Amino acid sequence: MTSAETTPPNLGAPMIDPFGRTISYLRVSITDRCDFRCVYCMSEDMNFLPRADLLTLEELDRLCSAFIARGVRKLRLTGGEPLVRRNMMSLVRSLSRHLTTGALGELTLTTNGSQLAKYAAELADFGVKRINVSLDTLNAATFKSITRWGELDRVLDGIKAALAAGLAVKINTVALKGVNEDEIPSLMEWAHGLGMGLTLIEVMPLGDVGEGRIDQYVPLSLIRARLANNYTLTDLPDSTGGPARYVRVGETGGRLGFITPLTHNFCESCNRVRVTCTGTLHTCLGQEDATDLRRPLRASADDDLLNAAIDRAIGTKPKGHDFIIDRRHNRPSVGRHMSVTGG
Ligand code: SAM
Ligand code: SF4
Repeated sequence: MTSAETTPPNLGAPMIDPFGRTISYLRVSITDRCDFRCVYCMSEDMNFLPRADLLTLEELDRLCSAFIARGVRKLRLTGGEPLVRRNMMSLVRSLSRHLTTGALGELTLTTNGSQLAKYAAELADFGVKRINVSLDTLNAATFKSITRWGELDRVLDGIKAALAAGLAVKINTVALKGVNEDEIPSLMEWAHGLGMGLTLIEVMPLGDVGEGRIDQYVPLSLIRARLANNYTLTDLPDSTGGPARYVRVGETGGRLGFITPLTHNFCESCNRVRVTCTGTLHTCLGQEDATDLRRPLRASADDDLLNAAIDRAIGTKPKGHDFIIDRRHNRPSVGRHMSVTGG
């Protein structure tokens, strides 16, 4: 039998889940490793996966390309820290062919910024237009206490390089009770002053990081109410289908986003799935569902088995998630770390 005869009829068919949601956005964690140890993300003595478990860069390319053939229009590389994976620019380069053909609308990444000074120009050359940089504070001592291992100046240099390369930068800030909550107005003024958006994120109960979440959690409804005392916040229409809600800040002219997985139900419009660096597909960030794509990927040189596994997984994408942080549930509601799933 030729491979054309064994091609399932749905090859290239869009991925539509049982609730009618079309999957068009893939986030891929290309490594679980990182040069930081942010307190809400990792414990200081993280155990990382054996390298042999990771998909190779060639396998990651094949996997992403299969999803693009099935209708993924937006691809985000994340981690761990994507820019610490050795030779990762070769993956960006090879994936950029899908931008050239128009099959992919956007190739982007989420980074802690530590390696950006080195890579920003190359990313722009390969067709990356926008990136997200995670930064929770502009205070060097607070930065050190949040990231444990990071250097604020390197990240600021990286952001400068990204802007100089013409990349649009959005800053992602996790709001942490008693740590950076008072600094949020000044972070916003700084980001907007440089033409960057700022998105605030509520801390999510993912993975055991050795600290009680109840100590870190501050609801963004509270942060928003405080900001509204001094700024004019005008709601913007939802354009992402994702968990972020945006406002325009009258005084700065900038965009401010709120990602509130704990207080806002955004699941109805969810258009995304995630793949880990070991090739495990998660169709919902907040549920334990998992489908191994590495085995079908490695079992055959064509993508039939892979597509069949993707279809099975999409066919069971849960309707929504249910994160809980309260005193009775002061433990991770999902055991995976964010660095494994990708943010
Ligand atoms: N290392 C890159 C970075 O920090 O941008 C990419 C991966 S990181 C896991 C992606 C995003 O997840 C970051 O913005 C980070 O702040 C966020 N994050 C990590 N753990 C989190 C948690 N428990 N709750 C909310 N956001 C978290
Ligand atoms: Fe690393 Fe990003 Fe996790 Fe911080 S949030 S430890 S930078 S993966």
